[in-house]
Amino acid sequence: MKTLKTNQGIRSESARLRNAGKRIGLVPTMGAIHQGHLSLVRRARRECECVVASVFVNPAQFGPGEDYRTYPRNMRRDAALLRQEGVDLLFTPSVPSMYPSGYSTFVEETALSRNLCGWHRPGHFRGVCTIVSKLFQLVGPERAYFGKKDYQQALIIRRMCRDLNFPVRIVLVPIVREPDGLALSSRNRFLSPRQRNQAVCLHRALELALRQIRRGERNAQKVIKGMEKLIREYSLARPEYICVCSAHTLEPLTVIRGRILVALAVRIGKTRLIDNKEYHVRKK
Ligand code: AMP
Repeated sequence: MKTLKTNQGIRSESARLRNAGKRIGLVPTMGAIHQGHLSLVRRARRECECVVASVFVNPAQFGPGEDYRTYPRNMRRDAALLRQEGVDLLFTPSVPSMYPSGYSTFVEETALSRNLCGWHRPGHFRGVCTIVSKLFQLVGPERAYFGKKDYQQALIIRRMCRDLNFPVRIVLVPIVREPDGLALSSRNRFLSPRQRNQAVCLHRALELALRQIRRGERNAQKVIKGMEKLIREYSLARPEYICVCSAHTLEPLTVIRGRILVALAVRIGKTRLIDNKEYHVRKK
């Protein structure tokens, strides 16, 4: 695995691989690598001759008062894990190289970004779209791999590629979970043991929602109320949003039908966790 820190370096190494006829799969991450990230790498490995991973904690996607400063960083460990998984190029740019002084250009998706996390984290997806566009420009991947853990993000990036004609296929990869159902996340390491026990409430609430829907419940508000009640039984958990929406448009539903996404964000102490599940309500 070659590690590159400069734009010029990653651009020329990626071009060399592309010119040798290799299909590049890109896995963008913010580091603190876990099995969720590694599942993206494995999928990319299977589908592409070359895998490029990036580790960059992107300041543009953090709002004021969010955890940019304290976000876990451990480049040595990350590099070792990515190397073991067979990554060919690791790109680890600096903040000034991505956002030089006077930087003033951003990419914004304006429909899918309005709901869910977009509503609660203004500017977040603008930061995500901007950095992902920059990575696509530098690496020129044929495919890019995103986790369904950040379902909204993956859909927004897919839309961005379509709208701005990026020739990149966006591959969505299933959520990797702990045995008790908690979705793996770099932020889980902020949780105290007690908080970690209670963090299972996100998955439990999603399971409850799916049980109700499978039994025939079609009233989104009733499903949301049930989830909220379950979460409130966990003393350290505060729901930020709970939503039943279309899995295509992310617009909230009143009547549950078609391909749906049940998504939520919950604060456990200072840590904000998100999770979701897709479900297809088939016509009888
Ligand atoms: P992050 O480093 O949190 O920005 O995540 C980088 C990529 O890994 C994103 O596409 C995430 O959706 C994906 N990812 C994070 N956690 C998981 C998980 N538990 N399962 C699958 N993919 C994940």
